[in-house]
Amino acid sequence: MSTTATKPTVVEAAHSYLRIVDDSGTRWVPKIDIHNKAFAGDATARQLLVDGERVFAAQLAACKGHTAIKTRDEGYSGSVNARRPNPSARGWITTVETCTCGAERRTNHNGQHAERGAWS
Ligand SMILES: [Zn+2]
Repeated sequence: MSTTATKPTVVEAAHSYLRIVDDSGTRWVPKIDIHNKAFAGDATARQLLVDGERVFAAQLAACKGHTAIKTRDEGYSGSVNARRPNPSARGWITTVETCTCGAERRTNHNGQHAERGAWS
């Protein structure tokens, strides 16, 4: 056998997933799975997390202006804007917008009140 294993490489990043290419092809892998491997001492997984952060930061920096292409609602889980908090907006629904670059923006809604977070 003279095959050389391809080092796994991050080609795209999202908030909770990394798109990785290696010998078995290209696929999206949940970051939590990579975190668990890294926590167990896997050096390759640790490197993928570092690379993933760099790829994600580059995607966001290259974005010409975040635009929501996808929106989902989640249950309220906490404040989304520490600088301009709106306690009246808490306790109900959080809308999560996603941009093509992978950035997300969370907004808490409760009745007529809103607390909008930043794209990150
Ligand atoms: Zn964007």
